[in-house]
Amino acid sequence: MADANLNASERTIDVNGRHYRLPTQPTVVVCVDGCEFDYLEAAVAAGVAPFIGTMLKGGAAFKGDCVIPSFTNPNNLSIVCGVPPSVHGICGNYFWDPDANGGKGAEVMMNDPAYLRAGTLLAAAAEAGAAVAVVTAKDKLRRLLGWQLKGICFSAEKADTVSLEENGIGEVLDLVGLPVPDVYSAGLSEFVFAAGVRLAQTRKLDLMYLSTTDYIQHKWAPGTAGANAFYAMMDGYLAKLDALGWVIGLTADHGMKAKHDPQTGEPNVIYLQDVLDDWLGDRIARVILPITDPYVVHHGALGSFATIYLPREVDAAQVIERIGRLQGIEAVLDNRAACERFELPNDRVGDIVVVSTKHVVLGTRRADHDLSGLTVPLRSHGGISEQEVPLLFNRRVDGLPSGKGGKRLRNFDIFEVALNRVSSS
Ligand SMILES: [Zn+2]
Repeated sequence: MADANLNASERTIDVNGRHYRLPTQPTVVVCVDGCEFDYLEAAVAAGVAPFIGTMLKGGAAFKGDCVIPSFTNPNNLSIVCGVPPSVHGICGNYFWDPDANGGKGAEVMMNDPAYLRAGTLLAAAAEAGAAVAVVTAKDKLRRLLGWQLKGICFSAEKADTVSLEENGIGEVLDLVGLPVPDVYSAGLSEFVFAAGVRLAQTRKLDLMYLSTTDYIQHKWAPGTAGANAFYAMMDGYLAKLDALGWVIGLTADHGMKAKHDPQTGEPNVIYLQDVLDDWLGDRIARVILPITDPYVVHHGALGSFATIYLPREVDAAQVIERIGRLQGIEAVLDNRAACERFELPNDRVGDIVVVSTKHVVLGTRRADHDLSGLTVPLRSHGGISEQEVPLLFNRRVDGLPSGKGGKRLRNFDIFEVALNRVSSS
């Protein structure tokens, strides 16, 4: 028996060139969508998040960088693969696929696991014998995160249609004791936490990944009533997981910033397709916004990152130079420079990458954005200004992974720290 235990404690997996110990104590990584560090500190300061307060004060709270574009899917996949999009291939919700439409190309969603170029550490851990569960808020992420995973994987959004064959679990609503939440609500994320706690209470699990949605963060700034209520809710569930003996690692897929004029509340938008049509002629350039997905009501498909496809006869260098002179542009790079700097797959990024400044977003044509769903001034993400994210642990951390050339900690280091570097008590 001692040998078996010894072996169990030394079992490891190698995934995408990184080395992980299989959990010897149940371990959960939580990706809080759009969790700017300020949200945590403000909720703690307001006295509504005492458990998060202990994580912040316990000496295991760090700031790191997410991947650019600072969007949900590229970062969630980076976290579960432990590597940037240049390796796993998912660099947006949406992209121009030159092979689609019989080789003519088409703008398509990147939700299909067929676009994934790397395995997840979750699937590898399950393959090695760990009992793994994944709960996401939106169903768009579920199939990517659950790719080749032999375990439990379901979304709050579709919690009423789970099956043992598809999701590794039969009855979720009975287990969680909450109704299926509205896709545009704080309840969607609460369901994820509640499900995580119920799974931890009722099953023998080794590894769990919980991923929420940023509905609240798009609407509420750090320290506001709506934000603090969300973090108070989250605090209660995290405290329960801690009390159940779980190691907790908490990070975010990206931050979130105000993207509107503080006086008028109107969004600060550069409609790039309109600008390029004006310069080059109608629809010569093709602007792709990788934030685009079926759930755009709370951000109007406006984020701080865009990519542009140009026909061969247009000189990209000249277009880059002109875009660089626009007000509100933080970076404009050609494909090669952008993919090198942001670790992106060259074949899924256009000829030009544009990143807008902290309070500015990028659109296609003004006429193509339905902003009627923006009931509060726009907050969004996608840029370098939303790159800083928290990494928090409920245990002491022994030494951080030393990035090459003094690079900052990344959100996709979170599993490595949680599995290899937290102390056992
Ligand atoms: Zn997100």
